Amino acid sequence: MLDLVIRGATVVDGTGAPPQRADVGLAAGRIAVVGPSIADAARRAIDAGGLALAPGFIDLHTHYDAQVLWDRLLSISPWHGVTTVVMGNCGFSLAPTRPAHRDLLLRTLENVEGMSLDALRAGIGEDWAFETFPDYLDAVERRGVAANVGAFVGHTAIRTYVLGDEATEREATPEEIARMRAVVRESLAAGALGFATSKAPTHVGAAGRPVPSRAATPAEIETLAGALGEAGHGVLQATLGPGLFLDEFERIARATGRPVTFTALLAGMLGPEGHRGVLERCAKLRADGVRVHPQVTPRPLQVEFQMGSPLPFLALPFFASYLAADAAGKRAILAGPELRAELRAQADRGRLGEGLRSTRVVECPGEPALAEQTLGALADARGVHPADVLFDLSLASDLSARFRIGVFNTDERAVAELLTHPASVLGLSDAGAHASQLCDAGLPTDLLGRWVREKGVLPLEEAVRRLTSEPSELLGLRDRGRIAPGLAADLVLFDPATVGCAPLRRVHDFPAGADRLVADALGVEAVIVNGVPIREAGRDVVDPAGPLPGRVLRGGREG
Ligand SMILES: [Zn+2]
Repeated sequence: MLDLVIRGATVVDGTGAPPQRADVGLAAGRIAVVGPSIADAARRAIDAGGLALAPGFIDLHTHYDAQVLWDRLLSISPWHGVTTVVMGNCGFSLAPTRPAHRDLLLRTLENVEGMSLDALRAGIGEDWAFETFPDYLDAVERRGVAANVGAFVGHTAIRTYVLGDEATEREATPEEIARMRAVVRESLAAGALGFATSKAPTHVGAAGRPVPSRAATPAEIETLAGALGEAGHGVLQATLGPGLFLDEFERIARATGRPVTFTALLAGMLGPEGHRGVLERCAKLRADGVRVHPQVTPRPLQVEFQMGSPLPFLALPFFASYLAADAAGKRAILAGPELRAELRAQADRGRLGEGLRSTRVVECPGEPALAEQTLGALADARGVHPADVLFDLSLASDLSARFRIGVFNTDERAVAELLTHPASVLGLSDAGAHASQLCDAGLPTDLLGRWVREKGVLPLEEAVRRLTSEPSELLGLRDRGRIAPGLAADLVLFDPATVGCAPLRRVHDFPAGADRLVADALGVEAVIVNGVPIREAGRDVVDPAGPLPGRVLRGGREG
């Protein structure tokens, strides 16, 4: 007797093989049978005619470490077909943490997670129920979760655990490095999927200090990563920065024999064609059996700004006198004709124009209807130039209107190269982080809608492979990521003709009334985790307070 049979789906099995019409039967949380027509009796049948059935998507770059403690449904990743998330990226795991350092760690995460300290405190509560990394995995397991979770143990947490208040201030002693390495080893033994660190200059924590991992020497990072080789499982996830890039990744991958995946390789980050050299070098290493995988994303990297301090224009010479002016001077320049004319001319000449057209209004006081509209659409409606909309809204709001512009990954030809290169892996959804500033948890539906259906950059089966078996293989999750008898029944049923990611919208559903951005999924009909449907027709179908089907996935074995 099957628990569930899905009939007549176009099965995209995760291996990259061409889609095939088939029935899929589930029993006891596993895929029991795949065939042209299943005759076995089943407790429930879903007619999937015309829909695609894929393995559940695996998101290997998320930051749900705190959120999972108050939101057992892990919204919003499952909305987009994600059935497995990996937390602890960039080194920001919540464990290990001593009681005395809890506040320090939360203040470190405050900026990184883009969440108010009040929300983090209210969400996690007084009783942390864990101190070590093994305790943390057990605590998540006990609470229950709708999707599967795996976690990296994070350098920032480990450094704070061992060095305390000095974690952001100084190099570690050899004795401290040895203690940190023992923590990595213990965490891997308990099931960490790897070790994560960051040297990114943008990772700024408590009191504006660099996050603790940024104070580490290359030798410290290499020593801690060495525990991966010793354990024989797990990956190094690293966010690149000064002193931590390809040479170091190659050395660590060779020394440990473990894969390295780094965040991120974005179009435009190293100049217009700079990504190519990185891809070629990683491909050569791969041919040599050394695995260094850049994480790539179909989504543009965006920053928010106000015209009082317009980050995207800092490097433009014709903005120099504007930047030097005080607030009254800035208003006068915005109201005058010269800077407008210059920005219009520059925009019409080059790539800046595309960036300006696609810039979105985040909020404009007094004009809520403008939120999430592009300057291009507003300019067309008003019969003016996008530069005029930018200046006029800023003037009308006394420079308080906020905008969001894509800074990297906006050149679609280059993004297509990144998305289709064999050395890259999909990553950087950053789901759960930057909650009030951005939301790229819809990476899978964006890929399937824009890059598969609309642009034809990837065939459906290849996009699905990159969302499923490729990350499962990298993470060592042996029984997920494909549709085949005996494997875990993590599945997503979607309509290839309508699947997509809706624009962002702001909601106030976080602890302490904090806000965040979310994006709805389009065309995702059902999401199944370990044989249990958790979403159907765009709605949750599990009781958030009841038993949930997600598991804590432990490296080196599967829990
Ligand atoms: Zn991250």
